[in-house]
Amino acid sequence: MSYLQLAGITKRFGGNTVLDNIHLSAVKGEMITLLGPSGCGKSTLLRCISGLTEIEAGSVVLEERELTSLAPRDREVGMVFQSYGLFPNLSVSENIGYGLKMKGIKKEQRTKSVNELLELVDLSEKHHAYPHELSGGQQQRVALARSLAMQPKLMLLDEPLSALDAKIRKNLRMEIRQLQKRLMMTMIFVTHDQEEALMISDRICVMRNGVIVQEGSPEQIYSAPRTEFVARFIGNYN
Ligand code: ADP
Ligand code: MG
Repeated sequence: MSYLQLAGITKRFGGNTVLDNIHLSAVKGEMITLLGPSGCGKSTLLRCISGLTEIEAGSVVLEERELTSLAPRDREVGMVFQSYGLFPNLSVSENIGYGLKMKGIKKEQRTKSVNELLELVDLSEKHHAYPHELSGGQQQRVALARSLAMQPKLMLLDEPLSALDAKIRKNLRMEIRQLQKRLMMTMIFVTHDQEEALMISDRICVMRNGVIVQEGSPEQIYSAPRTEFVARFIGNYN
């Protein structure tokens, strides 16, 4: 049995089928990338998994638990967005500890967890800083730590690097991959950037018009694209 199993996920907006019978499974600790052009349904698929969007058909099972009808807060799924979404009036530490506080975790335990997370994302010196005092890359590391604080069973990252400069983007890409391996965290990483997908993934799912058109290891996708669309998109087409 897979750790994560998506079966027959279908989503419509009005008469528009945005996700058409998506099947996808992941083993624990796997880094999966959804790669595809803007509008192909990547964000919508993440929102269906996290419960932010209701689905017309299909099911989401995570560690043998059926999530399909659960509220987002009960799914143990973390999410990180392109826009960071930090609380501007809270310090780095307060941002990271916010969810733990809401859960009623005592101050002492919270401080311990927050300090561990600060170290994990290499921001210990910035614990008192406010979001506007940080670079984009640092803010995204805070957002990652804040999400990890809730100990999710699955992390969804929606174009987390898209707002960053090229150099920072490459560094953070590597850091996320190292963190993911170290924590054995199962992640689904959304991007429209083929190089990013090739560098960060165990497995790539190429999407087009609400369908997964090919999935495989980065090597498979790059060296044996099944269609002209995949070949063109991955940049291996002459
Ligand atoms: P991607 O993340 O791959 O760029 P999205 O999942 O955001 O794509 O969008 C997929 C399609 O669904 C697009 O055609 C978009 O216009 C449509 N869509 C997304 N959200 C909504 C919504 N709330 N209402 C209507 N259409 C939507
Ligand atoms: Mg999107």
